[in-house]
Amino acid sequence: MTLKDYPRIVVHPPGPKAQAIVDRDAEWTSSCYIKEYPLVIERGHGAMVEDVDGNRFLDFMAGIAVSSTGYAHPQVVRAVQAAAARFMHICGSDFYFEGMAELCQRLAQLAPGTEKKRVFLSNSGTEAVDGAIKLARHATRRTAIIAFKGAFHGRTIGALSLTSSKARQHAGFGPLLPDVHHVPFGNCFRCEYKLTHPSCGLACVSAIEHDLLARHLDPRDVAAIFVEPIQGEGGYIVPPPGWLAAIRELCDRHGILMVADEIQSGVGRTGKMWACEHEGVVPDILLTAKGLASGMPLGAIIAKDSVTTWENGSHGSTFGGNPVCCAAALVTLDLIENGLMQNAAARGEELKAGLQAIADKHLPVGNVRGRGLMLGLDFVVNRATREPDKLMVHKVERRAFERGLLTLSCGASTLRLAPPLTIDQDDVKIALEILEDVIREAQD
Ligand SMILES: *Cc1c(COP(=O)(O)O)cnc(C)c1O
Repeated sequence: MTLKDYPRIVVHPPGPKAQAIVDRDAEWTSSCYIKEYPLVIERGHGAMVEDVDGNRFLDFMAGIAVSSTGYAHPQVVRAVQAAAARFMHICGSDFYFEGMAELCQRLAQLAPGTEKKRVFLSNSGTEAVDGAIKLARHATRRTAIIAFKGAFHGRTIGALSLTSSKARQHAGFGPLLPDVHHVPFGNCFRCEYKLTHPSCGLACVSAIEHDLLARHLDPRDVAAIFVEPIQGEGGYIVPPPGWLAAIRELCDRHGILMVADEIQSGVGRTGKMWACEHEGVVPDILLTAKGLASGMPLGAIIAKDSVTTWENGSHGSTFGGNPVCCAAALVTLDLIENGLMQNAAARGEELKAGLQAIADKHLPVGNVRGRGLMLGLDFVVNRATREPDKLMVHKVERRAFERGLLTLSCGASTLRLAPPLTIDQDDVKIALEILEDVIREAQD
């Protein structure tokens, strides 16, 4: 395999330098960090990551779907350096600068739907979610929130109350927000109702109406439904066609706001700017973060003007909308709009076809799903029962790392592939070759 100067494993990872840093980190960093595998990065370029021992990896996880333009894209680096040299902070909640006005205008105009939007800038995804909970309650003067089982919305107490992907994320932290209700997601591969699409008639959506809203929760008390158009941490689950639109209709019937959490799925990753555009659905509030500024910390709440009711001084942030982050986001959006989004769609097709071919050959892969460069491989113990194979996904992830391919698990038993949107056809070929090898070997 000599297509590129990577992957190149010169010492079995973690090498000696990496191991020393891993040991030091284990001594001093807080005990909550996951640390998926011992990757110790020294530098990166495009989709290549080099570790401190000189190993080179092909990156198909982008630091959790964040490094959308790759590592240290020269145009992003130049914009960051220029912005930092002018001023690193001013506090956009209290003062003005052009980059903030420009980015907010740009995001408002990029969001789906014809109604005018307004934008609030945060430092992270979870803060965007917490802000959206406040905005939805303020705008509707209702308190209840509906979210989905398997959802991930973040880890601050508000967002955490909506998160429902792993019990460990809640354990010992309660009580969380009251009046948050979780309902099954449109997950056809493991349907809670044991039905099949389309003959189910989207029974999971009708159940919200006939079960939750009829018996338990008056819809007039519901401020918002928070939904990931493609469930991310929960397992890269794409709901069936029409599901998101049915959620939209349910919201419209009851004056409930629809909040699309596009923190992972947004900014071109799925081949469209926003994943809800694949379904032609317009949310009332759209949240973005992860890939928005190529790794600089930035999130956004993009809300319809009619929903943006909170008055002057009611919400804010010291660092949110940092000028260096805004500069990085503006260049990132240029790059996404001028080629990377199309590349995500094209490379995504090739990658998905290759993954499907692997699945057809190798029994432990039960399902290949996703859109664009947000793709998941679901490992099963048994194809008939679809019982998740947790061990297999971690084995494949670890062996791929040792072979020079960076991936990340999610959900019960899913290997997620979320590379930088800059990858080329050779990167796709290399990744598929390694994946096929390690999946074959992992069965032994
Ligand atoms: C990552 C993620 C969040 C939380 O973002 P942080 O920046 O880690 O706080 C929220 N929602 C979704 C869908 C995410 O993928």
